[in-house]
Amino acid sequence: MQHNIYTTSCKNFCARPIHRDSMETITQTTPYVIQFEEFFNSRYRSVLERLAAFYPDDKSIEVDYKKLEEFDTDLADELIQNPYIVIKAAQEAVSQLGLMNPQGEKVKLNMRFVNLPADSKVLLRNITSEHIDQFMSIDGLVTTVSESRPKIVNAVFECRHCGRVYNIEQTDQSGKLAEPASCACERKNFNLVLEQCTFIDSQRAEAQEPLELLRGGEQAKRLSLWIESDLTNQLIPGDTVEITGVLRLQNPKARGSVYDKYLDVNSIKQMRREFEEMMLTKSFNYFRV
Ligand SMILES: [Zn+2]
Repeated sequence: MQHNIYTTSCKNFCARPIHRDSMETITQTTPYVIQFEEFFNSRYRSVLERLAAFYPDDKSIEVDYKKLEEFDTDLADELIQNPYIVIKAAQEAVSQLGLMNPQGEKVKLNMRFVNLPADSKVLLRNITSEHIDQFMSIDGLVTTVSESRPKIVNAVFECRHCGRVYNIEQTDQSGKLAEPASCACERKNFNLVLEQCTFIDSQRAEAQEPLELLRGGEQAKRLSLWIESDLTNQLIPGDTVEITGVLRLQNPKARGSVYDKYLDVNSIKQMRREFEEMMLTKSFNYFRV
């Protein structure tokens, strides 16, 4: 039996219940969403069908920037200038296509953009405050990788007085937990219901300028990488990678005016893995002996 993984966009949208009293964020349909629906339908339909068949084991789609640029130059430009709004619209567009996996679960995919234009490729030493909040790609040699840790993306709070329950989507990247402003009973005391919260994996890493890009005697510049979801546990120290993401500022721990920069990682392309190279060299030597 072949599973029909598409329902019509309208049917799917109209059938969706809106829980106004549960403080659900209602996403407004922006022009970008409609453009992306057309883009995915015309350029990625078979890819999406394949991904849906394996969802949620596969939960990301790799989108080629060059294809987006061919489809709509302005939309592609907008992705570079306002990445979060455009990426969210792309995600929303996929949701509205009504894709289902064989178990009947609605497919929600992460957008992984690759092949950014050459002028969005920035050397670590050339990163300035002008790049903040822009979409860009860097070449880096991974120096450290932290353990992956769970991070709340949807927090469930229960009012301590009346028991009303609130779902609060967590969008603050600094890790500060957003609580409901106040309860319908006008009180402000909530318990976090940990077992009902939704978590994703998150990980920190650091990359430095690859040695071949260093100018004589110069110290390599470093950049923190914040990694989430299915991109965690992909990097090991020694990897040379091309990373695409949004340059962000990290709030200073103490009160101050100097901020650290980090890259909120959107996609990772492996260029070279030192470990494999070493193994290859070893086996090569072995056979030569
Ligand atoms: Zn209450």
